[in-house]
Amino acid sequence: MSNLARFLNTVDGQPRESYSGRWIASLDPFTGKAWAEVPQCGADDAAAAVEAAHRAFTRGPWATLTATARGKLLRRLADLIARDAEKLAETEVRDNGKLLAEMAAQLRYVPEWFHYFGGLADKIEGGVIPSDKADMFTYTRREPLGVVVAITPWNSPLLLLTWKLAPALAAGNTVVIKPSEFTSCSTLALMDLVKEAGFPDGVVNTVTGYGAEVGAALVEHPLVAKVAFTGGDATGAAVYAQAARHIKHVTLELGGKSPNIIFDDANMDDAVKGAISGIFAASGQTCIAGSRLLVQRSVYEEVSQRVVAVAATARLGNPMERTTQVGPITTQPQRDKVLGFIDIAKGEGARCLLGGGTPKDPALAGGWFVEPTIFGDVLNTMRIAREEVFGPVLSIIPFEDEDEAVEIANDTIFGLASGVWTKDMRRAFKMAERIRSGTVWVNTYRAVSFLAPFGGFKKSGIGRESGQAAIDEYLQTKCVWINLAEGIPDPFIIR
Ligand code: NAD
Repeated sequence: MSNLARFLNTVDGQPRESYSGRWIASLDPFTGKAWAEVPQCGADDAAAAVEAAHRAFTRGPWATLTATARGKLLRRLADLIARDAEKLAETEVRDNGKLLAEMAAQLRYVPEWFHYFGGLADKIEGGVIPSDKADMFTYTRREPLGVVVAITPWNSPLLLLTWKLAPALAAGNTVVIKPSEFTSCSTLALMDLVKEAGFPDGVVNTVTGYGAEVGAALVEHPLVAKVAFTGGDATGAAVYAQAARHIKHVTLELGGKSPNIIFDDANMDDAVKGAISGIFAASGQTCIAGSRLLVQRSVYEEVSQRVVAVAATARLGNPMERTTQVGPITTQPQRDKVLGFIDIAKGEGARCLLGGGTPKDPALAGGWFVEPTIFGDVLNTMRIAREEVFGPVLSIIPFEDEDEAVEIANDTIFGLASGVWTKDMRRAFKMAERIRSGTVWVNTYRAVSFLAPFGGFKKSGIGRESGQAAIDEYLQTKCVWINLAEGIPDPFIIR
């Protein structure tokens, strides 16, 4: 037995290893060394978790719990997460290498989703339908879907899980969670709090393992009613196709190539900070990264120089230290992919203004770092402007006027987010209308809230998370007809 910390799955309220007895090492991106292990599950473990969730949905106490009681459980979980936020954040940092400052702020914010959706649980209402038929009483019920599978990526494990878990539970579903194989530990640690909050056994279950093995087995399972997925667009397409074969409900939160647009009338200090936070926060490993910086030609040189100057001072280092500004990339394959994209950009003729490799500092040698990298004179036709890099690599693209900015912004397969920097409010409203993305930020970037719907246009996804409408993604409508009269008319004719 190894001497690494071991995190176990929870199935039917019980701690579980995998049937195979195999383990996956969780690697610390700052040292490159294993620090913990999680069970390497397979299709048999996936089936056991789905069956437990299905039993809890159909036969357990959860099925008859009032919506008000469900809401209370969610709010209790919120309080426990708030209590343990720092500890959960540290676990996430060991797994994904993102800054402790960022993960702790996320974990302190996560409880708001459980409070919000806990509050919504007993406000799910049906309606009485006016009837065009005599003596008929018709009403609707809003009912949960059943077993929901939540599949999450490695960049913000608990935040992105929460966006699924809170509305799914508030709506009365049961859940099987499949976290990323690279960053499972915080999700497994959260399960202790789910138990402590008092959720009945089987309502929330976890299965760790590789996507192609355990993820695909969950999507395939006939007792799963819905798949809520966050991850890359290629995986999302595969999940969508597989779910379609079984006519399952699906929400997809996928990637992006978001334009962050600076006009010449912008507050330049703010715009430069917005450009930096858009791409170098979280080492660019966010789906909403503002990886295409569109700059009006009249201020193109000035903005490029200022962004390069600020990025050049970014402190790379141990993500656990509060003074660090840029941490490592979460996985070695992802680090290699980012470096590959940098080579592609150089080969395409983009001008490298900053970085372009791995840092020389020997203190960083053990970690999977990439220097903050900026390319100038990028054409929107280049691969570096078209494909999601998911790393600290910024492409700066010049434009002449509003029309050209809109054209370049929308010339992408993605549509997750966008930023507009201008003092002209007429222009801000027009741009917000014309850009095809699920979120538009004006004079800010990277703002999210439990109150505000989030999701993608085009290949960035289907469905919305957060905000009131998010609960609809976990409900279905039943229509009930009650005949108040005796005597059935002609049985061969539709009523
Ligand atoms: P990924 O697509 O490789 O993996 C995501 C999850 O899917 C993991 O848990 C993985 O194990 C699982 N998976 C892989 N193959 C599967 C299969 N065949 N069936 C079922 N599950 C499978 O993504 P990643 O590399 O972990 O995360 C990075 C990606 O996530 C980026 O593209 C990023 O843009 C996207 N992302 C999107 C959002 C959003 O809200 N839109 C947020 C964060 C990240």
